[in-house]
Amino acid sequence: MSKAVVSSLYDSDTFKMACRQFDQAADAINLPEEIRDRTKYPRRCVAVALPIKRDNGSVTVFEGYRVQHNLSTGPAKGGIRFHQDVTIGEVAALAMWMSWKCSLVGLPYGGAKGGVIVNPGLLSEGELERLSRRYMQELIPFIGPHVDVPAPDVGTNEKVMGWMMDTYSNHIGYNSPAIVTGKPLSLGGSQGRREATGAGVAYLVQRYLEDMKIPVTQATVAIQGFGNVGGETALALAAAGAKIIALSDYTGGVFNAGGIDVKKALEYVKYQRTLKDFHGGDPITNEQLLTLPCTVLIPAALERVITPENAPRLQCRLLAEAANGPTTNAADKIIEERGDIEVIPDVLCNAGGVIVSYFEWLQNLQNFYWDREDVMQKLFALLDKARDSVEYQKRKFKFGRRLAALTLGIQRVTDAKQSRGLFP
Ligand code: NAD
Repeated sequence: MSKAVVSSLYDSDTFKMACRQFDQAADAINLPEEIRDRTKYPRRCVAVALPIKRDNGSVTVFEGYRVQHNLSTGPAKGGIRFHQDVTIGEVAALAMWMSWKCSLVGLPYGGAKGGVIVNPGLLSEGELERLSRRYMQELIPFIGPHVDVPAPDVGTNEKVMGWMMDTYSNHIGYNSPAIVTGKPLSLGGSQGRREATGAGVAYLVQRYLEDMKIPVTQATVAIQGFGNVGGETALALAAAGAKIIALSDYTGGVFNAGGIDVKKALEYVKYQRTLKDFHGGDPITNEQLLTLPCTVLIPAALERVITPENAPRLQCRLLAEAANGPTTNAADKIIEERGDIEVIPDVLCNAGGVIVSYFEWLQNLQNFYWDREDVMQKLFALLDKARDSVEYQKRKFKFGRRLAALTLGIQRVTDAKQSRGLFP
């Protein structure tokens, strides 16, 4: 039979990259041909036009998307990105990775992602609120606490989630905290959610350093991206005794061989918004940061920054993918052939975020709230379990770690789809 799915809608480098990863994993576990396209391609997508009244009285129409990749294993789950370079193909790839990630760590969710083409840094607070509310308003027919549960991603935060939760709750007429996760604590957010992704990255980095017999106190760390994930990762690793030698954001980076004072950098960014002109070290570019000699390299910004051009020049021992999709397929191959860098693949490395989002959703549905210690203990237990399963799969089939993680995630989604059967 010829293939029916032609996914020109999502055509983009990032979507192709996610598809290639899927194809490799599907081949590695001999996934039956008839289930492949059904598992690979997104189930639904919505594109919305978002007219916003600007502060000067004019109206701008922004474009936004929500892609629900998989709904077979529970409500869809995934963040909302506000960024000027968002495309529907990128959102679809991110939704696909959410499916494998939720499945890998054993959460009862499918995968989704949302995005709006906007530079939120150019909006006033009022404009950002109107855009956030409008986006949620347009999504209401397609989402719900048991259908699709958004969360923060690049360019969105607790405040945005609070506005979205309020918009949804006003629409349905009662308080519905479980519609989004990553909310402020005062609206039913979870203890530990803000730091969850970074804390999870830092925890896994320490577990892999132990395996590599490198004391964390002797580790040097370079982090690209100093937002929610990069900032919290830096803080947690510095607290564990690692030396953070480089940090960056979209304006460029800073390098200090003696170690950067992370708390000072965070304080600086709180008021200045970016690391530009931060005096904690010497200026470097984002590209220079990626190839610095260091123990741990942590991309924590956007996709496709580790490329065939810089992969041969990486000088780290451990590559911890806090961002989604930071390594292109070709770069991945180069790193695997080099054989001198351990990789913690994104679907495992940054899973702490969705794990604590799951805890937040559970607390909202039960109206029963946990303390921080409880949240963190449960987070690390789930990460350990996922890590153990990845290491077992890696050893058993002699896979690279990314392939091990992806095959586990994909197999579980496929099993669910096969058990449910095909609705006539
Ligand atoms: P954020 O908006 O809080 O921070 C993004 C950071 O990246 C900022 O410091 C920004 O300046 C920087 N950045 C943007 N473009 C850059 C560029 N071209 N070069 C260098 N730096 C650049 O976003 P976040 O929530 O920290 O997300 C970062 C990554 O982690 C994304 O890949 C996201 O999908 C992933 N992630 C986030 C979560 C979460 O809970 N927020 C969970 C899992 C994965």
